[in-house]
Amino acid sequence: MNWLTNFVRPKIRELVGRKDIPENLWHSCPACQQMIFHRDLEGNLRVCQYCGHHMRIGVRRRLEILFDDAEYQTIEPPQTIVDPLKFKDLKRYSDRVKDNQAKTSEKDAIIVAHGRMGGMNTVIAAFNFDFMGGSMGIAVGEGLVAAGRLAVVQDAALIVVPASGGARMQEGILSLMQMVRSTLAVDEVKEAGLPYIVMLTDPTTGGVSASFAMLGDLAIAEPGAVIGFAGRRVIEETIRETLPDDFQTAEYLLDHGMVDMVVRRHDLRDTLIRVQKLLRHPKPAGAVVPFVPEDDAMEASLAEDVVETVIEPANEDIREPEPAREPAEFSDAEFVDAEVSGDPRDILPSGFEPAPIKP
Ligand SMILES: [Zn+2]
Repeated sequence: MNWLTNFVRPKIRELVGRKDIPENLWHSCPACQQMIFHRDLEGNLRVCQYCGHHMRIGVRRRLEILFDDAEYQTIEPPQTIVDPLKFKDLKRYSDRVKDNQAKTSEKDAIIVAHGRMGGMNTVIAAFNFDFMGGSMGIAVGEGLVAAGRLAVVQDAALIVVPASGGARMQEGILSLMQMVRSTLAVDEVKEAGLPYIVMLTDPTTGGVSASFAMLGDLAIAEPGAVIGFAGRRVIEETIRETLPDDFQTAEYLLDHGMVDMVVRRHDLRDTLIRVQKLLRHPKPAGAVVPFVPEDDAMEASLAEDVVETVIEPANEDIREPEPAREPAEFSDAEFVDAEVSGDPRDILPSGFEPAPIKP
């Protein structure tokens, strides 16, 4: 109404500072501590623009990055039993699953998607780390089996993108059994002669790294991803040794032959397409191609020449003597006419004793 409310109050608010700034607009890079605006971070595929650190990325965004035109379909793996052990820690396991389903809007920690990459049929089974740490229970095992069979049916390559802390301990031994099931699923793909590629992301540990994640025809990893079986602290306490700083990172595993390539997130799609093309369309081996001349006459003359040149050296002893050749050319002292006896040894110079021919 007056100048105090219309003019002075807004000015004072401006001086004091606005309080309506939404949270999570700025992210701090865990590697270099630089502040990055959220839109810049998402635009750069959640890779730090200052130091290149690869932050974790959502599973749906991951699939969009990989498939042609960001288009893919997901399949619904068969319904599995939830909470078979009626497990309870601080909270019921069944409630924990429900909470995670509500939080992530996903059924479980894996998404099985199919679409095209570089025009080629591709099935991708991607882990969702936001769902109970991407842990592998019965539902995840079922997803991997479904992904393997889908790849065989579609004659597609299978790419698995693990991001997991390992087996889901709330399902006990049943979660460990998924290590076997996932390995068998991978075997089905390999038996069909289809490429199976693993794209290791941060983190790939525990039962996941001890089964299908280390069985890829190619193991590709993102820079800086933690990949290992037991945790660093557990190993250090067990072997009583200090481990190197880069222990269990993608680069360390590359140096030690456990990983084939470390590829930046921006180059992953192109690399996966190139690798798939190499595995699916190998260059033809050096096959024998028959020579077909264009001209029939030339073909006939060539064939004669070939016959003559082939027979001449091989069957010298049974060849008819040429009528043009005069016997006078041979010295009687040295040669006996081969026509007389028919024995090939007779045309040899006299005095030369060939080795006896074994029957
Ligand atoms: Zn950084």
